[in-house]
Amino acid sequence: MARGFMGKILWVDLSKKQIKEEALDEKMGRDFLGGYGLGARILFSRQKAGVDPLGPDAILGLVTGVLTGTDAMGGSRYVMVGKSPLTGGWGDANSGGNVGPYLKFAGYDAVFFTGKSDKPVYLLIDNGKAELKDAGKLWGKDSFDTQDILRAEHGKELEVACIGPSGEKLALIAAVMNNKGRAAGRSGLGAVMGSKKLKAIAVKGNMKIPVANEAASKEMRKKQVANKNPRSEFIGGFGTAALFNMSLESDDAPCKNWDGVGIIDFPKYKDISAEPVKAEQEKKYGCWHCPVGCGGIMKGSTGEFKYEAGAHKPEYETLAMYGSNLLNSNLASIIKANDICNRYGLDTISAGACIALALECYDKGIITKKDTGMEMKWGDPKAIIAMTEKMAKREGFGDILADGVKKAAEKIGKGAEKYAIHIGGQEYPAHDSRGGLMFGIGYGANPTPGRHTQGGEGPLPAGALPEYNFQSLKGRGKPHKRGVGITQAYNAAGICMIVIGDAYVHINDLVEAFRTITGWDITLDELVKTGARIETMKQAFNVREGIKTPWKHHDRMLGKPPKKVGPRAGATLDEAELAKEYYEEMGWDPKTGRPSKKALMDLGLDDVAKVLWP
Ligand code: SF4
Repeated sequence: MARGFMGKILWVDLSKKQIKEEALDEKMGRDFLGGYGLGARILFSRQKAGVDPLGPDAILGLVTGVLTGTDAMGGSRYVMVGKSPLTGGWGDANSGGNVGPYLKFAGYDAVFFTGKSDKPVYLLIDNGKAELKDAGKLWGKDSFDTQDILRAEHGKELEVACIGPSGEKLALIAAVMNNKGRAAGRSGLGAVMGSKKLKAIAVKGNMKIPVANEAASKEMRKKQVANKNPRSEFIGGFGTAALFNMSLESDDAPCKNWDGVGIIDFPKYKDISAEPVKAEQEKKYGCWHCPVGCGGIMKGSTGEFKYEAGAHKPEYETLAMYGSNLLNSNLASIIKANDICNRYGLDTISAGACIALALECYDKGIITKKDTGMEMKWGDPKAIIAMTEKMAKREGFGDILADGVKKAAEKIGKGAEKYAIHIGGQEYPAHDSRGGLMFGIGYGANPTPGRHTQGGEGPLPAGALPEYNFQSLKGRGKPHKRGVGITQAYNAAGICMIVIGDAYVHINDLVEAFRTITGWDITLDELVKTGARIETMKQAFNVREGIKTPWKHHDRMLGKPPKKVGPRAGATLDEAELAKEYYEEMGWDPKTGRPSKKALMDLGLDDVAKVLWP
């Protein structure tokens, strides 16, 4: 088995309570790099098309990458994979913290769950020994208590990925949580975990990950840590909150359910920016072995929006979705909302979008106090927190919101769909689709719609892309394909995108990291092609599910009608052109997204070609 991998996968049948070990196929490891690459390959082969994502035939995986837990800086990531109950297509969600590395130290590259347990269980993996254990006492507990109880029982070195009560209640915007404030939030996979009555995956171990060149690996690490880059210092100092002012001032951040202009409609934005956030921070922290340390633990607040010391610092996405998007300049309430979502296990991006839908529907008279049980006014932190709590607990009107904006709007009716800002069922992240066009292309073109971390043209190391005009769609297909390829590769391998460009200053540094850890004679061309294979594998999963892409954008994200004022006044996107060149470069049909037989065969996906082109 190639270095970097542990060489073993665990299969857990929750219906039969059976656990089996399987060797990781070496070629598959190199062809897909782990993470969502390996996940997509395995689910395409072993999960039937058309399964209910919340049913027993759905497979849920927790998968690490070939660089996870190694000396390669930022190698903290794992990915949850499965069929998304939000989109009906391929679903994945990436998280940092310690769980990914420790799954490997416990002896495995990935765990896949099939079936459905008849009672709550958790999986304990301790140095190569795996067992299912009763989780009756954990059911109903939040993600903080779940971790604390499991650590008290199995030792403080235990790492835990779990769902909170929202996942148990199958909220379709539920996340899988770890380290109390790290979330595998997107795609609704917390609900898939809840549907299986799987409360937690708890791992510990001290096995060594085999590495091809130990001395070179240590040397690489030293060099990466020594690379002090202003961007990582900025993010290390403030967290991703550092991005908030810049995003708001350029009209990248959402404002008033994506209908406003930040600098005009939300003048108090500096109240929730990096400096005041940092002032409430007790200490910073990082994921496993990460010197950047962009996470933060808050001091606690006894004010109106009380939260305990130990609450986590909100990320940029949370500040934007719960701040500017709701016209909410009350920082304590945003930290509180973040804490509720972390404890109950909700994706803060989707949760903020759901509250925005409720506020706009209330504002437009589509819903009233009779529906919501409370007044819902833009910028009212009390209403925002009260409704977030209801959503997390699936109570009252919160029960409607807990399944995401698309389903909520369908239930509300009366034209609410117009204010449900989603793409393919997934709420947009907090970056405008018109900025540099990268997000506009990616949100609709990617197999997982509405995602800002699936690649395009950034973040990438220097030398990754040829010169291109980032304000034009013309000539965009080639650089976008190359950028997606590299991003898919490092994401699948388990590297955090925040350290890209800092630890991996030049693209050759990234290639070298793969070579040093794995011993493969991998080249940049192979890495780019591998990324394209991963992306195409996920796309094939969607095609087999009957999904046609590009996903249809919401009009507001296309600038229809265009904004009249602000930095993006007049900007509109031509939806028909957005993904066209990129799909052509990938060999995917620009109208349906179906990869051509040739594109599949060129990537070595002959068996997939047979399924898609019988
Ligand atoms: S940069 Fe932040 S998110 Fe990324 S690995 Fe480091 S601490 Fe974790």
